[in-house]
Amino acid sequence: MEFAELTTLRVGGSAPPLLEAKSEAELVEAITSADARGEGVLVIGHGSHLVVGELGWDGLLIRDARQDISEVDSFVACGGSTVRATAGTDWDTFVRFTLDNDLAGLEMLSGIPGTVGAASAQNLGAYGQEIAQTVAQVRALDRQSGLIRTLSRFDMHFGYRSSVMRRSVGSERPETGKTWGPTGRWVVLETSFQMRSASLSEPIRYQSLADRLGVELGARVPAREVREQILEVRRETGMLWDPEDHETWSAGSFFRNPIVSDELAGKLPHDLPRFPVRNQAMFVSGSVHKQAPQVEGKTKLSAAWLIEAAGFHPGFKVRDGSGAALSGRYVLAITNQGGATAADVQELAVIVRDEVRTRFGVTLDFAPVIVP
Ligand SMILES: Cc1cc2nc3c(=O)[nH]c(=O)nc-3n(C[C@H](O)[C@H](O)[C@H](O)COP(=O)(O)OP(=O)(O)OC[C@H]3O[C@@H](n4cnc5c(N)ncnc54)[C@H](O)[C@@H]3O)c2cc1C
Repeated sequence: MEFAELTTLRVGGSAPPLLEAKSEAELVEAITSADARGEGVLVIGHGSHLVVGELGWDGLLIRDARQDISEVDSFVACGGSTVRATAGTDWDTFVRFTLDNDLAGLEMLSGIPGTVGAASAQNLGAYGQEIAQTVAQVRALDRQSGLIRTLSRFDMHFGYRSSVMRRSVGSERPETGKTWGPTGRWVVLETSFQMRSASLSEPIRYQSLADRLGVELGARVPAREVREQILEVRRETGMLWDPEDHETWSAGSFFRNPIVSDELAGKLPHDLPRFPVRNQAMFVSGSVHKQAPQVEGKTKLSAAWLIEAAGFHPGFKVRDGSGAALSGRYVLAITNQGGATAADVQELAVIVRDEVRTRFGVTLDFAPVIVP
């Protein structure tokens, strides 16, 4: 099999046989054995945030086939519930389950491809909502010790599209001279979410979404209505994956919104959109404060603005005939218009990053996990 068949961007060379683990014991045994042999490990979900090179990758390729969701506790006095999902559970199936049970807190994350495990490691987010706001605990295999541990949301050290788990992908594995990646030191086995019993959504924080819903910013709206609108916006912007539509063949946002010092942000053009950086590790769910505290001295910038201002229009290609293009509907995504290779994707990504750096002195990080 090729990685092109295992990833939503549809690029990448040959893949080793895919092992579908049907139990936690099988998953843990396969990973700890591969680690003991010094073999690489790639726990793959839906391949929706992965870019694999043309030479492919070799090692243990494993998927958690379990799709179990259970409501474990209901806090009548506090008006909430804890819901648990195994790592292989399809993310959007899980979001639908919470809405069907009148549990609010994940509605803005409707329609995102992938699994609960990958979402937990990368602090999945959209429209001002991040899973860091609802995660209670993550049960995970620590590949360093071979032991299973339960990490609280504080232990996860969630950041912007990251956590202690996501950050470990690129960090060095002791005594090997190699990094942990393509899968990090921790393999998520199961995540528990603390949810609010409510049919109304969290406050709407995006003007464009508020406009579509016909409400003021900060309003709460029936959560299922929010889901419907978000699915519609995603369809319009190519962010709802569809095997028939090349505009959706992407790895989601390829470029992260850069976080820079206030000093650098102050020197950049006034009309460049700026956002506060929030410290999710300090967010106490259920507190009167609906958002995590702001990080002083740092500002998040709009990568989309920087890319367009550097001269790249939606649909931009390095040359006619290249299969890789910036999405025509959402400039942060690189799409495979058919026949793109990983090299085409890389070339486009590097040209965009370098031009933004030359014009504005800001380096855009690539969001997906890149293999090798
Ligand atoms: C059309 C489209 C829209 C998207 N929109 C958004 C969006 O709005 N917001 C957003 O945040 N992302 C978005 N994404 C990116 C992507 O959907 C998420 O990053 C998703 O969580 C990836 O899940 P996956 O199962 O496909 O992970 P994969 O791509 O299979 O893997 C990604 C990484 O996660 C690791 N991983 C997988 N399972 C586990 C596990 N159990 N434990 C530890 N590590 C694991 C892998 O080893 C790899 O390092 C979008 C992608 C696409 C294609």
